[in-house]
Amino acid sequence: MMMNIPLTLSAMVEHAEKYFSKKEIVSRTASGITRLTYGESGKRIRRLSSALTMLGMKQGDRIGTFAWNHHRHLEAYFGIPGIGGILHTINIRLSPNHISYIINHAKDKALLIDAELLPLIEKVKDELTTVEAFIIMTDEKTLPETTIENVYHYEQLIEQADDRFELLTNIDENAPAGMCYTSATTGNPKGVVYTHRAIVLHCMALGLADSAAISESDVAMPVVPMFHVNAWGLPFAALWFGTTQVLPGPMVTPTILAELIEQEGVTITGGVPTIWMALLKELDTGKYDTSSLRAVLCGGAAAPKGMIRAFESKHKIPFIHAYGMTETSPLVTFSRLKSYQSDLEEEDRLEVRSKQGYVVPGVDMKVMGPNGDVKWDGKEMGELLLRGNWVADEYYQDERTDEAFRDGWLHTGDVVTIDEEGSIKIVDRTKDLIKSGGEWISSVDIENALMTHNSVFEASVVAIPHDEWQERPIACVVLKDEMKGKVTKEELLAFLKPQFVKWWIPDDIVFMDEIPKTSVGKFLKRALREQLKKQMNTTT
Ligand code: ADP
Repeated sequence: MMMNIPLTLSAMVEHAEKYFSKKEIVSRTASGITRLTYGESGKRIRRLSSALTMLGMKQGDRIGTFAWNHHRHLEAYFGIPGIGGILHTINIRLSPNHISYIINHAKDKALLIDAELLPLIEKVKDELTTVEAFIIMTDEKTLPETTIENVYHYEQLIEQADDRFELLTNIDENAPAGMCYTSATTGNPKGVVYTHRAIVLHCMALGLADSAAISESDVAMPVVPMFHVNAWGLPFAALWFGTTQVLPGPMVTPTILAELIEQEGVTITGGVPTIWMALLKELDTGKYDTSSLRAVLCGGAAAPKGMIRAFESKHKIPFIHAYGMTETSPLVTFSRLKSYQSDLEEEDRLEVRSKQGYVVPGVDMKVMGPNGDVKWDGKEMGELLLRGNWVADEYYQDERTDEAFRDGWLHTGDVVTIDEEGSIKIVDRTKDLIKSGGEWISSVDIENALMTHNSVFEASVVAIPHDEWQERPIACVVLKDEMKGKVTKEELLAFLKPQFVKWWIPDDIVFMDEIPKTSVGKFLKRALREQLKKQMNTTT
């Protein structure tokens, strides 16, 4: 038999303090760049734990954060679980109704809030039923003026606290350490609770050579917000592994990102495709040296082939497509060529790498079609089911649990094909699939094809109701600025025709200035469908 030592976040802090006390956190806040070593950060984490205890917070309490990516948020990532508390990262882009809903639903006892985001909390303060303390994170010496009571200054609070506070390591590794709500397309957001054990195992998976391979020698910059699936677990793994981390702070622009990459020598970064699309435009100015980058991780929505090609061929930046969800911590698949695929032709390699890839060790999957498991032929479509040690098995106190978690599997709502290598390709979400004449059309495939056209900046394809065929696809296209007015619908349709069977070709193409997006930058197809419906009603 072997020892059984609880896997905890506090043990990760102790490790970083012991072995990486000289390594750095580079944090961009409202007033500029702060640099802290893991030695200093460890002390501040302990001070935060101590301060929270002084405020009366106890094991099992939920404590919310409402903040951008910076060093204080990182301290909360460990300082809250350090007292056995539960770090509840709140998505700052949710509607006020949803913000108050999730704070009340989680029963947050305290909130750690960025000063510049305070107005958003002031808006909902009268709805909040459980919060006893509002702790403001700011570089300023004094608190901002506010209508909220029970307000504390983060720095003053931790200043008075104990920098040798003992973090809890001897707790049940299955105790909750964090929680995050995922935006539901209908109804209220659904909560996912992460255990210490799940977070630690997920970090190990991020370190695997065939996943993100995060190591001490990296300089990691999570662009994905720390309020969205724990910034994909990158801040946890980076601290544990002694990786230098660059936290890019509030109101990130492509210019800020490009400058940070160059100045700090970022080697690995992660974010959603819309961020990388915008960064590409900035890099096209040719002003930046990005040669330090060894991996741009992209997930949260499908990475268009054209974007992968632009990063790799034009800018010589290795690009990695990955897939996951809030319910899965999020790491599920990485799209990597297997060793025996290395002699594939350039285009075939790109084809493989633009799929979502195969599951990392530790996650198990199956794909269920209407008649059971689908064939691994890259053609038959079915719903992706997942299980694993960092996959949730329920929504937090939510009756929608039974829909998604059945027979030991998470039913993802993602429709995929799977090829003979086990590599999945997301063809749609169940609710976005286009059902035309009893057959399925993948909106994602058509979008990706359109986005390879050199005039197209973004494209989103949705279903509209059709008398004869039940549903038909319509493509909404945003042209690149310099191509506006120079390309016609007919040209784009002609571009699609050789690539698809006839009935997949959209009935129409609608040019738009912008495609509505979710709080985390994904196409908001529900809003798009409504917009189209309205436009069609006014034209008929
Ligand atoms: P939300 O459900 O609020 O959009 P998540 O971040 O949990 O937030 O989203 C997970 C979903 O995002 C997945 O179920 C899938 O539909 C989509 N997704 C994630 N990664 C990819 C990817 N690489 N390609 C296509 N879709 C993706």
